[in-house]
Amino acid sequence: MASDLHMHTTCSDGVYSPEELVEAAKAAGLNYIAITDHDTVDGVAQLYEAGLYPQKGIKIIPGIEFSAHHDIRSVHILGYNIDIYNRELSERLNDVVEARWSRFSAMVEKIRALGYDLTETDVLQIADSSTSISRSHIAQALVAKGFFPSIKDTFDQILDKGKPAYVSHYRLEAEEIVRLIKESGGTPVLAHPGLIHDDELVEQLLKNGIEGIEAIYPKHSAEETEKYLALAEKYHLLVTGGSDYHGIAGRYPAELGQFVIDDAYAAELYREPEI
Ligand code: AMP
Ligand code: MN
Ligand code: MN
Ligand code: MN
Repeated sequence: MASDLHMHTTCSDGVYSPEELVEAAKAAGLNYIAITDHDTVDGVAQLYEAGLYPQKGIKIIPGIEFSAHHDIRSVHILGYNIDIYNRELSERLNDVVEARWSRFSAMVEKIRALGYDLTETDVLQIADSSTSISRSHIAQALVAKGFFPSIKDTFDQILDKGKPAYVSHYRLEAEEIVRLIKESGGTPVLAHPGLIHDDELVEQLLKNGIEGIEAIYPKHSAEETEKYLALAEKYHLLVTGGSDYHGIAGRYPAELGQFVIDDAYAAELYREPEI
């Protein structure tokens, strides 16, 4: 059986609710999964509070994907097995999601100034119940309104860093994220190192408290995967991997189960729930 340790729900920029995602993961025959929404643990909380955790037939690892502050690079840090009710973690995450909301308004204003008649309501219809609003929602709304042919075009032309509608948002520093994850009882893992495009920075991050590396990732070439597996050995790190499933039409993977990792990696991270 196979596993997937990176996926998003409606609580951030995914299309499926936590409940739907768990059902889809079961249907795909996954053994271990982790929900890793951007800057929020609301999806995990929903499963706990609906009595859907733990579940028969699938092992769920509570997770999160933090956006870390860096001047020029986009650095994401995954946290597995965190205590989602840790007070400091909740407070710091509140600051980040609040900042995402002000940034969302600022971006819509910029987009309107560029001549696209996009309203906050258009984006909110896409974002639905998400608490962690992102460029991903804005991109989907721009495509739905017919302003761009694809999500990729929206990023290439206006949403990417350096493009005219880009606004950054408040993020925590990598060191603080690593500390918060550890203090919440979790394991910090460097997400998709290949997307950082800076191996010096990758090594620097790995030397500063990170305990795992997401070596197995859809956008990594075979050479990159080998390189990150070697770094995992060098720094004695756990190896993780996942599909970064969002359920967004046109975005790989189209289905859960298309990109998976060996259960053995996930088993290293998994902890039996204390209930
Ligand atoms: P944010 O965290 O609000 O800056 O938004 C980043 C999100 O947008 C990521 O989590 C991705 O899901 C999505 N994203 C970023 N770049 C692209 C891209 N070039 N094409 C499609 N989606 C993207
Ligand atoms: Mn995303
Ligand atoms: Mn990411
Ligand atoms: Mn992700």
